[in-house]
Amino acid sequence: MYIGRFAPSPSGHLHFGSLVTAIGCYLRAKSLNGKFIVRIEDIDTQRCSSDNAQSIITSLQNISLYSDEPIVYQSHRHKIYQKFLDYLIAKDYTYNCQCTRAQLKQRPCPCEHLQLQGNGPYNICFKANLFMSDYFEDKLLGTIKRQNDAQLQHVVLKRKDNIFAYNLCVVCDDILQNITEVVRGFDLLNMTFVHLALYKALNHQAPDFLHLPLAINEQGVKYSKQNHAKAVILEKNSQQVLKEVLCFLDQNILDLDFSQSCDSILKQASLNFKLDKIAHHSKVFIY
Ligand code: GLU
Repeated sequence: MYIGRFAPSPSGHLHFGSLVTAIGCYLRAKSLNGKFIVRIEDIDTQRCSSDNAQSIITSLQNISLYSDEPIVYQSHRHKIYQKFLDYLIAKDYTYNCQCTRAQLKQRPCPCEHLQLQGNGPYNICFKANLFMSDYFEDKLLGTIKRQNDAQLQHVVLKRKDNIFAYNLCVVCDDILQNITEVVRGFDLLNMTFVHLALYKALNHQAPDFLHLPLAINEQGVKYSKQNHAKAVILEKNSQQVLKEVLCFLDQNILDLDFSQSCDSILKQASLNFKLDKIAHHSKVFIY
């Protein structure tokens, strides 16, 4: 059975860009008679809050997006991530790193060769190069070639301040929730190479990946919580916002009745869903 997920990090409210991903993910899952799961990626407690998580869940409900399974919170799953990390350490797929963020901005990390031992504190990093491929097949975009990017050279799995990194948690959760396809924004395209490398290291079959276009502003910058994108307000105008998202995803809206409930519009939109209509590039959207 197809199982997809929408996995927001609650570092702000739901903005138009995340809603595009949520609805794209929902339509893809429902068009294949699959499940749509919501997971809250609040592992970085310094950036995330439970108020933001609740606000995102309420916004999703206002537009009739409900998780088909109880919502999982990464902040409750430390023991699980530690087990996966212990396995990678035991296999010697990790190394200790003592670099600070400021140092990493100035020079590449030298620590893999230093073989640092002792108590640390250390960042625990993944020897991603052992497993990284040069290409993968995206379900929307076709063949994707890896771009050389510093982020792929230095993959932290657990930070020295004991916070598990997104890259580890996302793969553990997608494995444990039996996700068959990851639908998310283009911004994570290159990080997918790290995730695929982790699946290989964990000896687990990877799900399919499908990356959706980003909503960008007139300056070409993506809407994100980091640049304080406006929250989408979904109390009174949810049908109108839904229409804008469906247009953004290049879906045919002519036979949809936007005076109906969001639930029935979404049902009809998933019956009509056409993956191959979706643009392969970011699109300016003024919200
Ligand atoms: N939590 C990530 C974000 O909000 C998305 C992770 C994913 O979909 O893999 O950017």
